[in-house]
Amino acid sequence: MHEYSLASAIINQVKQVAREHNATKVNKITVSADPYEMVIPELLQDAFNIITSELELFEGTQLELLRLPAEIICLDCDYKGKPSEEGDKEFAYNFKCPKCDSRDTHLNIRHLTIETVDLEIPE
Ligand SMILES: [Zn+2]
Repeated sequence: MHEYSLASAIINQVKQVAREHNATKVNKITVSADPYEMVIPELLQDAFNIITSELELFEGTQLELLRLPAEIICLDCDYKGKPSEEGDKEFAYNFKCPKCDSRDTHLNIRHLTIETVDLEIPE
């Protein structure tokens, strides 16, 4: 399961950060994902809960998933950013460049990234 390996990667990274800061608890983790990266929030949360169920460090940890806006890379003019709104429905995977109107574009898929980790660190 895709979400399971993602959740386990998040947990391993956060564990490392928590250890570096001598944290006793992880309050909240915010992760961001591309809208075209197939991450189902419910499955990610379930996997997270299963993996952390025995870990005291993650007791009551909130996991928040932020969806980034879709981004394209234009192969004609090197534009990188939001695609042009028009025509998106017709060419779902072939977005138009707002700068030069080219359809020779790639979706810039950004993988799941940990944005912030809120830790509880004893004095
Ligand atoms: Zn362009």
